Amino acid sequence: MPYLVREHLFIGNIGDAAEVLQKGSNEITHILSVLSSASISFFSEWRSGLTIPSKEIKKVYVGGAGGDGSSTEDNVGDVSKSSLSREKLLYLLEYAGKDMKLVRMAVPIRDMEGENLLDYLDVCLDFIDRSRKEGSVLVHCFAGVSRSAAIITAYLMRTEQLSSEDALESLQQSCEFVCPNDGFLEQLKMFEEMGFKVDHASSIYKRFRLKVLGDSYNRGEKIDSSKFGADPGLPAEVSSVEVTPNGDNHNRAYRCKKCRRVVALQENVVEHIPGEGETAFEWHKRRSGNHFNKSDESECSSIFVEPLQWMTAVEEGALEGKLSCVHCEARLGYFNWSGIQCSCGSWITPAFQLHKSRVDISTVILAEGKERSSA
Ligand SMILES: [Zn+2]
Ligand SMILES: [Zn+2]
Repeated sequence: MPYLVREHLFIGNIGDAAEVLQKGSNEITHILSVLSSASISFFSEWRSGLTIPSKEIKKVYVGGAGGDGSSTEDNVGDVSKSSLSREKLLYLLEYAGKDMKLVRMAVPIRDMEGENLLDYLDVCLDFIDRSRKEGSVLVHCFAGVSRSAAIITAYLMRTEQLSSEDALESLQQSCEFVCPNDGFLEQLKMFEEMGFKVDHASSIYKRFRLKVLGDSYNRGEKIDSSKFGADPGLPAEVSSVEVTPNGDNHNRAYRCKKCRRVVALQENVVEHIPGEGETAFEWHKRRSGNHFNKSDESECSSIFVEPLQWMTAVEEGALEGKLSCVHCEARLGYFNWSGIQCSCGSWITPAFQLHKSRVDISTVILAEGKERSSA
């Protein structure tokens, strides 16, 4: 039996979901399936002979290339900047069940510590929100212990402004055995630190994205440039940068000192806490407050960025190598998937490093379509 968590919100396992899909329910109108495969055939694989009719409404891939080409009101475009490759399924929406009256959304998430939960949170939480307005929703995974609990914990955090610990504790009062895996708990902590949203511009998210990419490299997966940030040296990309008023740091551009080509924007920079060693990447040990001010920055002889599409040397699959300017071939820095130590002492892993002595900083003034050098 599904457990009631809040009004119109239930948590359950695959058996609970199968029963609702087979027999219908007086109460549940929506199902959020968090399973390793989004396909409804997962149910028949789990229990042979079990057939559940379904009719696809929409399939949405990361980047918004949906089955019917629509991206609707979902926050899909925003996810295109995520670490997921563009072909990856974000969610499947369908009518399902005996009378085809149930609305089911399925998201493909495996119950593994290294699994990227954050990139699915927005669509899952928005679905729960909408479903509760129209009826009642059952959130389920296979066992009803880790994945569904992580999603509902995030939902309680966002709707009730709770810390991840308080939200999980509150969920455990409805269903005492729930226990998201450690990787999900860390991501829920990040979700909290980002203010109950998945903020792609935050250092927390950027470090997470880099870590996911590093894990993928370490598993021997091919790293292709579709997972890299757009090349800021291409004109189309520069014009798409958000204009930030008052001349703050957000519209800074880094240029090759020799040929002046733009090689990185401030938004590509992955900040680190100077001198904090490996712990710089352990977000849960982060102290609150602003670590990323200018005085700290002056201790570092390098900036570290996300991998960008001009870094063709990275695509070749080597563990480490030089990063050279794509225009004039001047050496700009190094990359190393195992990490590089900054002059401040911090280890950045994986690292895509640009020496400050090899780049100039300028401010991009986009409103006028021009740029000027900063003082
Ligand atoms: Zn440093
Ligand atoms: Zn150059």
